[in-house]
Amino acid sequence: MPSPLFALIIEDQESDFEMIGFELRRAGFAARCKRVETETEYIAQLQEQPGIILSDYSLPGFGAPRALELLQQSGLEIPFIIITGAVSEETVVECMKLGATDYLLKDRMVRLGPAVTHALVESGLRRQKQASEAALRKSNERFQHLVETTNVIPCELDLETWRFTYVGPQAVTLLGYQPEDWYRDGFWCAHVHPEDRDTLFQLRGVPGAAAKDHDFTCRMLTSKGVTVWLHCVVKTTACQDCARILRGFMIDVTEFKQTQESLARHASDLAASNAELQQFAYVASHDLQEPLRMVSFYTQLLSKRYKGQLDADADEFIGYALDGALRMSALIKHLLEYSRVSTRRPEFAPTDCEAAFHVSMTNLQMALDECQATITHDPLPTVKADSSQIGQLLQNLVGNAVKFRGPEAPHVHVSAREEQSEWLFSVKDDGIGIEPEHFDTIFGIFQRLHARDEYPGSGVGLAICKRIVERHRGRMWVESEPGNGSTFCFTIPKDQVLA
Ligand code: ADP
Repeated sequence: MPSPLFALIIEDQESDFEMIGFELRRAGFAARCKRVETETEYIAQLQEQPGIILSDYSLPGFGAPRALELLQQSGLEIPFIIITGAVSEETVVECMKLGATDYLLKDRMVRLGPAVTHALVESGLRRQKQASEAALRKSNERFQHLVETTNVIPCELDLETWRFTYVGPQAVTLLGYQPEDWYRDGFWCAHVHPEDRDTLFQLRGVPGAAAKDHDFTCRMLTSKGVTVWLHCVVKTTACQDCARILRGFMIDVTEFKQTQESLARHASDLAASNAELQQFAYVASHDLQEPLRMVSFYTQLLSKRYKGQLDADADEFIGYALDGALRMSALIKHLLEYSRVSTRRPEFAPTDCEAAFHVSMTNLQMALDECQATITHDPLPTVKADSSQIGQLLQNLVGNAVKFRGPEAPHVHVSAREEQSEWLFSVKDDGIGIEPEHFDTIFGIFQRLHARDEYPGSGVGLAICKRIVERHRGRMWVESEPGNGSTFCFTIPKDQVLA
């Protein structure tokens, strides 16, 4: 059931009030009528938001003109009909100007029903219109705020005249030119970097009316002569009776471009310095071999020829010199091996790690037999890799696991686990273990934790392992506890790209 119509009636005559109520009900309204005579009563009832106001034109001390004025001040949208005994044309005009919806003569009360219906419909429509206008305004404001307050600059350009027809206000802050500058003929072409002009001209050449998306980056000069990078995401469109236009957004990507350029510069500097170091290590180790060979050869000759002929000190000194020369020779050999890890031409091919592992174990056979080592392993996969380097990697790790064994015969286990994008290998031993503070340093070149007479070695083995893994774009690390063995882990990516 529709809710009853609340009719606020401004009337000093009780009989007229009764008559209005009667007419409303006769016209089919379930009306709840309330009579007021004074301004104070009227103001109080306005708070209740009546559905319609029916007002006598003039009452003692109050009347329709004042009631209309108060209604307007309240901002409420309530239809207002004046009901009066007699009225002049001027008064009617005056009342309508003040915002009355309609007027009615008291002796023509049969018209009340249709007049109220009409006023209610009209007021409903007005309210609807106001609501949709407010919603539209709000949505426009939101859209404008969205478009004009971010770093993404909206723009529209007439491709025939090559003129901007709209640019977001952010463009002014970004480039320092006023909107009227932007809307000048050829502004874009005049301020774009000469090398990027062709990119713009290509837009001109887009044929026909077909809509087309374009995505490009161009440089523009600010009013202060600074270069700004703009990424443009635009669409060229045309319809039959309008010019071809380009619409879209420009995004300031200067910071991103600068970072990109500086990264590229650093990468190329780094590559150059790496290559230089590589060359240096190779040349140094290679060229040092020759004089060292002479030193070793003649020290050995001295030892052979004069052993026992000079005094005991001389024999001892020659022994030291020989030992030093041999050690240096081993160091240089390892240094050369280390520098060769990355100078090898990439030869990545499907590598059966299990086969590579068996070859390595054969190479280590003597050392393994000597300490009665037990080496076990999981099935090892086939990966895209440099097979001889994978063999060397496993050999170095198992060799170390056995070398740094505990008091018992060592047990080493090699395993491989398939992860989402890589294989995770591990070589686990039950040896002496490593203190956590050495977890990183042991992978450095010539880094050792023990004296040579405790454990032989040159401190290059793990550096070579790490280099091999990195050349395969993998990672390498150790997990260990002193006295409780170590596990050396490394990964080999599945989708191997050549280094
Ligand atoms: P080297 O074996 O010639 O000393 P590496 O580079 O292979 O050189 O190893 C560096 C150091 O890391 C070793 O001197 C040793 O102290 C430590 N290390 C390597 N592997 C192990 C292991 N399995 N257990 C304990 N310590 C190890």
